[in-house]
This record gives sequence, structure tokens and C-alpha cells, in this order.
Amino acid sequence: MKKMLKNYFMLAAALTLVMAMLCGCGNDNATGANDGAFTTVTEGKLIMATNAYFPPYEYYEGDAIVGIDAEVAQAIADKLGLELEIQDMEFGSIITAVQTGKVDMGLAGMTVTEERLQNVDFTTSYATGIQSVIVPEGSEITSVDDLAGHMIGVQLSTTGDIYATDDFGADYVEQYNKGADAVLALTQGKVDAVIIDNQPALSFVAANEGLVILDTEYAIEDYAACISKNNPELMEAVNTALEELIADGTIQGILDKYIKAE
Ligand code: GLN
Repeated sequence: MKKMLKNYFMLAAALTLVMAMLCGCGNDNATGANDGAFTTVTEGKLIMATNAYFPPYEYYEGDAIVGIDAEVAQAIADKLGLELEIQDMEFGSIITAVQTGKVDMGLAGMTVTEERLQNVDFTTSYATGIQSVIVPEGSEITSVDDLAGHMIGVQLSTTGDIYATDDFGADYVEQYNKGADAVLALTQGKVDAVIIDNQPALSFVAANEGLVILDTEYAIEDYAACISKNNPELMEAVNTALEELIADGTIQGILDKYIKAE
């Protein structure tokens, strides 16, 4: 009897200890809507930086910024229980805005490159991009091999700009703030070709008479969202959300809505 009583007390003590540990853990975790797993610049918000002149990834419809990236970001924000805010800025300012903690992430048809990876981290890729070449109809440039020695228009700080400057030299590359400005210069004969991502290229060619896209591709790349290296918790949360959205077909549905099969 005595032994049984002793066992009973030991069991009760052990149970009390376990209960205390469980309660302790529970209290530590109760720090906010996402259990304190990640932080954003403004509580309850997911602030995305973009350059809204890149159809169909981001463009204005009235005052609203719409497009693939806006919808992908909205789907991520919904999964994380956050309100999405989109800030429009120069493409070349996006990485700095992410790095300096002014925004939570950049989503701008942005290509993952080794150089950018030194400054920011990239999520899982959600789309493929192609660098295309636009020329006037009847141009003597009929493939990417003909580009050398010609004036090439690009959008400042994009991969088109970086690769063209590497391949052909800065003297042959004219940088414009917007892709549309590079295309305008092409229609005015100020440059001989424009190197730009294929989806905006298709929009620009559709909107301007007398331009064609070369059949040969200049480069094939991965688009991803960039997030500060100082916020690995947000990176993990966004990646988890994005990977679920890829797996359940949501991302493909968004891409198909804006990019019609040829
Ligand atoms: N994909 C290109 C890059 O990342 C262009 C992106 C853009 O102009 N929005 O440089």
C-alpha cells in the first residue's frame, strides 16, 4: 500500500511537470496572428515593390496595379492573412527598397541572377522569362547573331541591359527608364533593336505597327520574388505559401489568365 501511494505521488508530480511545460510553451507562442513566426514592415500588411510598366506582369488599369505579379502577391498575402499593398517605383530601386526594409518583397518579373543574389534572397521561381529582341519589320537584324555593332535599346538595370552591355559593350547600349521608352526610340529609328522580356515585348509589338520579335531567344531566365536577407522567417513563410500555390495549380491559373497560348 505504501509503495502504491509513493508511485501515485510520483505520477502526479510527473504529470504536473508535463502540464507546466506544455502551458509554458503555449504562452511563449502566443505573440500574434502568425505566432510570431515572421515580421513585416507594417504589422498586418505585406508591402510589395514593383515597376508597373511591365505588362502582363504589372500594369495600370485606371489607378489600380494589376497583372500576374499583383495576383500572385495577393494569393500569397491571403495565405499569410495579410493585407497586400503595392508600391510602384523604378525597376532599379526595387532591390534597394527590399534591402533597406522599406518594403517586404519585390515582385516585378524579376530575374534571379548571381549578382542580385549577393544583395537579396529569392523565393522559389514562379515563372519563366525569355529575353527577346524586337526589331522594325524588314530589319537587317534577323537573329541574335546579327546584333553586334548595332544600337540596342534596353530598360535600365534589367537583365536585358546587363547582358547586352556585357556582350556588345556600353557604347552600343542605350538605357531607358521604361521598356515603353526603349520601344518608342525603336519606332523613331534612334536604336536598331530592343532587348526586353518576351511578354512585355508581345504587348509592345501588338501596340505599335511595324515591329516584330525575332524567332531566336537572347536568354531564358527564372522569375522570383526577392526578400531581404535579414528576414529569413518571412522568406520561409512566403516560400511555403508560394509552393502550395504552385502545387494546387493557382499560379498556373494566374499565368494562363494573362498569357494566352500561342
Ligand atoms: N526580367 C528582367 C529583369 O529582371 C526585367 C524585369 C522588369 O523590367 N520588370 O531584369
